[in-house]
Amino acid sequence: MKLSFVIPIYNEEKGFLKFYDSLLLPELQKIKYDYELILVNDGSKDKSLEIIQKLAEDDKHIKVLAFSRNFGKEVALTAGIREAEGDAIVTMDADGQQPPSLIHEFIKKWEDGGEIVIGVRGKYEKHGLIAKAGSKLFYKMLGGMGVKDTVPGSTDYRLIDRVVADEYNKLTEHGRITRGLMDWMGFKKVYIDYVYGNRLAGKPSYDFKKLFGLAIDSFVSLSTTPLVLFGWIGVLITIASFILGVFVIIEEFIMGDPIHLNWTGTTCLSIFISFLIGLVLISQAITALYISHIHAEAQGRPLYIVDRKNSRNLKK
Ligand code: UDP
Ligand code: MG
Repeated sequence: MKLSFVIPIYNEEKGFLKFYDSLLLPELQKIKYDYELILVNDGSKDKSLEIIQKLAEDDKHIKVLAFSRNFGKEVALTAGIREAEGDAIVTMDADGQQPPSLIHEFIKKWEDGGEIVIGVRGKYEKHGLIAKAGSKLFYKMLGGMGVKDTVPGSTDYRLIDRVVADEYNKLTEHGRITRGLMDWMGFKKVYIDYVYGNRLAGKPSYDFKKLFGLAIDSFVSLSTTPLVLFGWIGVLITIASFILGVFVIIEEFIMGDPIHLNWTGTTCLSIFISFLIGLVLISQAITALYISHIHAEAQGRPLYIVDRKNSRNLKK
């Protein structure tokens, strides 16, 4: 029996060694199975690559999979899972926010028959309003993607069985959210609540904008900025004419035109028409997004490109 650990790394030079030496390694040494640690360098611009290459030289448990540039965490996780040879695979972040001391609990649930063991945050945490609304929206959108039984707060800190990994490796889409796809796949899921800690060092590379982009990415993909822009114009027109329409109805028909604006039938009609134009623009943009997504998938480009020269101890 062998376990694989997959950790995506992007600009983590400040904290990674500390994370590995003081948090991860002590736990790995307690595991009764053989293990491998796959560190995916996602095109870091700092010294992360050198640091993990050095680790891999001294410890043959460690594999370094180096990307030729930054492809994003979701793709890095996918690459790591494809490289993994273990009977179960654990994915976790490199910054210490997902406590490695929990892996024994993950392994226990797996031994008890869980095929996907999912770390869930939030139960013991307090969140701001915006963060709460944001994550609610995110899970709504996942729901729209066909992922019905996602538990809010599910994170990428999870363990998957070999059978799940084999199926996951068959998926080919480009705009992907790892946890969304896994939840979509089914299998026997088990949940573990944990507290999302603080970063050991460095800054998070996912800000609100990137997270929002990630959410959009799970439906459609690649550069569609002009189309999206028209969609937003449509949203503005729709909202503006809706508000105006409501105002006219209340002012003219309910209150009997107290401020003597003398709305005519033509004005009402034009407000209604611009409302419809807004809707048309929005639906057009949505259609265009789907088409561009089909286009991207049809191109069939590889999901990522491995930098073979800088990688270490890989299976092929
Ligand atoms: N990461 C990555 N590629 C990126 C951004 C992040 O591989 O483009 C890694 C990062 O090194 C960390 C994990 O993904 O191990 C989570 O990133 P971060 O801590 O920035 O996100 P958050 O904690 O906000 O989810
Ligand atoms: Mg983090």
